[in-house]
Amino acid sequence: MSVLGVYGVEHASSLIYYGLHTMQHRGQEGCGMVCVDGNGQMKRHRGLGLVSEVFNEQKIAAMDGTMGIGHVLYTGAASRGLDNVQPLYFHHGSGDFALAHNGNVVNSELLTDSLERKGSLFHSHSDAELLAHLIKKDNPDEPRIFSIIEALKQLEGAYAFLIMTKNRIYACRDKYGFHPLSIGKLGDGYVVSSETCAFDTIGAEFIRDVQPGEVVTIDKKGIRSSFYTEPSGCKCKMCAMEYIYFARPDSDIEGCNVHAYRKESGRRLYYEAPADADIVVGVPDSSLSAAQGYSEASGLPYEMGLIKNKYVGRTFIQPSQALREKGVRMKLSPVRSIVSGKRVVLVDDSIVRGTTSRRIVNMLREAGATEVHVRIASPTMTHPCFYGVDTSTLEELMLARMSVDEACKAIGADSLAFLSYGATLGSAVGRTDMCLACFGGEYPTPIYQKIEDANK
Ligand code: SF4
Repeated sequence: MSVLGVYGVEHASSLIYYGLHTMQHRGQEGCGMVCVDGNGQMKRHRGLGLVSEVFNEQKIAAMDGTMGIGHVLYTGAASRGLDNVQPLYFHHGSGDFALAHNGNVVNSELLTDSLERKGSLFHSHSDAELLAHLIKKDNPDEPRIFSIIEALKQLEGAYAFLIMTKNRIYACRDKYGFHPLSIGKLGDGYVVSSETCAFDTIGAEFIRDVQPGEVVTIDKKGIRSSFYTEPSGCKCKMCAMEYIYFARPDSDIEGCNVHAYRKESGRRLYYEAPADADIVVGVPDSSLSAAQGYSEASGLPYEMGLIKNKYVGRTFIQPSQALREKGVRMKLSPVRSIVSGKRVVLVDDSIVRGTTSRRIVNMLREAGATEVHVRIASPTMTHPCFYGVDTSTLEELMLARMSVDEACKAIGADSLAFLSYGATLGSAVGRTDMCLACFGGEYPTPIYQKIEDANK
């Protein structure tokens, strides 16, 4: 998922459209935007599908104004459907507001249950709706920031929220900083985005990241900062998968460029797990940088042994196994003249269910590769994520069910090796900590009943 907000810039709806398009890799199930139009009215359009399918020129023009927020959605099976497509938009006596969210609140079931017992009715499974219910506005004279801070204090887990009223945008990030949220300047206005690659597309200049535990208010007075938790309570547990898989290589996450991270992880992968081979091939797109790093460190030529059909969605984030299987078959082709007769080092970013790895190894063999040595630029993924990344249940995770040797046989490779924990963290220059829970089970937050749920 990703969020994008624009404040104080002409043609905000067009800018949000382009920005969401840039972040389409973070979710393809649905998207939407809420903008304040030239008459000061909030307008929303949302739909299931890609940004280019949901929006057209007329729809964007009808929402035109100087501020708005947008969202692209990917979801687990529990929260599909139009009701969950964000931003959500609420009418309230104290003023209308809209919310968009990236991440997952781990105590949402407890909070929702408690609110329902008090009479609240929910339309969606979205954490954005939960936050809207928690933002009480009992005293109309009190600034809304107070009620937002009180609401955020009740949430546990991973979230980056954008909340928009008719005259300001609030950008909020959980106290662990699981997912990125950055602020850019564009003319006299501001842009807030889940990834900095959107800034380049729409011409904004990066200013800074929203800090863990911070709420940044953006309005005609500029930007102001509040913290809903003590800085000592913040932990800087950026999701390692943002660097490894999710983010675009041209994005910078908390001062570290994603391409540079992946290249370094590829170098370290070679030093930890060299392979006797002829060429290095990366799985497009998210593993190309790591393959380049492996190639440079090993001295083996980097070759374009796999070609991606760019018009098929990402397999990992398709919502069902049947769709994922189909997606893998459609999206990659081996280049026979390059791999035939060669011993190939195949570099991939991660192994989740093993579906993709097995098919790619098969494909390369069918295309004439004599050996396929699989090198994974992250540790073995053994635990589910509860922070908004759909790595699914324990049972589905290949390396939770079997050893590395067994997994090697299961995917049909000649050898298989993973990057170590230390090298995964060390590839992010300047970072001293990250969330690596899906690789080791050390969850930075309480996770309530969710491990049992993941086993079902
Ligand atoms: S558990 Fe894994 S995918 Fe989830 S936030 Fe942590 S590192 Fe990211």
